[in-house]
Amino acid sequence: MATRNKVVAENKEAIAALTVKQQLDVIAAREKRAEQERVEAGNILALGNALGLKPTQVEEVLAKINIASGVMTEELTRDDLQHLAKAMDELQDKFKSMQVRGGIHPRTVINKSRKVDLLRCETEINTAVAARRDKEGVVVFRVNASAKSKQTHHAVSVQFLDFQAAISGGRISNKMAEAVARGPIRFDCDCGRHRFWYRYVATVGGFAQGKPETGFPKIRNPKLGGIACKHVLRVMLVLTKSPAFTAYMKQYIAQMRGNPTPKAKTMGKKQIEQLAEQISQEAWNKKRIRQHANAAVPADMTDAFSSNRRKAKSIAGVGMTPSEIAKAKAQAKAANMEAIREINRQLNNPEIQQNTTPEVFAQIQKLLEGAKRGS
Ligand SMILES: [Zn+2]
Repeated sequence: MATRNKVVAENKEAIAALTVKQQLDVIAAREKRAEQERVEAGNILALGNALGLKPTQVEEVLAKINIASGVMTEELTRDDLQHLAKAMDELQDKFKSMQVRGGIHPRTVINKSRKVDLLRCETEINTAVAARRDKEGVVVFRVNASAKSKQTHHAVSVQFLDFQAAISGGRISNKMAEAVARGPIRFDCDCGRHRFWYRYVATVGGFAQGKPETGFPKIRNPKLGGIACKHVLRVMLVLTKSPAFTAYMKQYIAQMRGNPTPKAKTMGKKQIEQLAEQISQEAWNKKRIRQHANAAVPADMTDAFSSNRRKAKSIAGVGMTPSEIAKAKAQAKAANMEAIREINRQLNNPEIQQNTTPEVFAQIQKLLEGAKRGS
């Protein structure tokens, strides 16, 4: 055991010495291997598919899964399948009532997580730093692994769903950057907890970033409780609390406005260390993580670039999209012009002309010219 730990320790040091890009590549390769193992294991329960099958076919699928799962695992029965399906239905209803569709707010992720994950986040994880900008408003965070883990880092990727709206218009301000960072997102983590417990939950909720998970977590999370691992939770804290990250988001929006199709950009080691240091100095790090029972979506966020189709996509504080504002302006101008035409018609009416003194006539003319100029 001692030798094995030593090898792992050396490996950790070697990884720590790599560039940020190489570190992210190590994580990606690790995830690819895990995915391959998973496919080869042959014991994945694609519940959505299994439910549509005839009873005899279901038995066949279950037999296959049970053989592949090994002797130590309890066998799955058709009754189990019904229970699992019920859990999936309930979860779908839960997300519906939380208005989570195709994106979830970071605050909701914190509010709905398991206490044990929050505790692990508080005690084991202390840095999450934006390491790479991908296209379409995706940021990959490099998060430290816990001291007892054999990994040095994990990668959490977050897709900001209001990013597109932000690069299309409006003044770039702290308020706008916060609305994007704290607005609806999709996320993913490469760790085992996310893979085996939560990726399926995220898929059902429509907030899985990247590859969806169709295999039901039948062994580890059959009741489908919780939402996020400790790494994702640390990132959610940064999104909702960190002024340094707000500044980063402002810069990212500005950069994308200048060049909407840049290549993915990985940060240098110095940059990333500076940003990590800056975030670690922020006061919120010293406070305990709090969950709010009644705040699925913060009220002031529902209007800001809401991805909820029934509420128009809008600029924070204005309640209108850039195109809606342009339309409203054009409508107001058209209404104004119509009023001016009407007054002119009246003024050309001989009866009215006779009853209007030259002074009043001159005043009206002056007002009309002002109205035409739009003042
Ligand atoms: Zn994780």
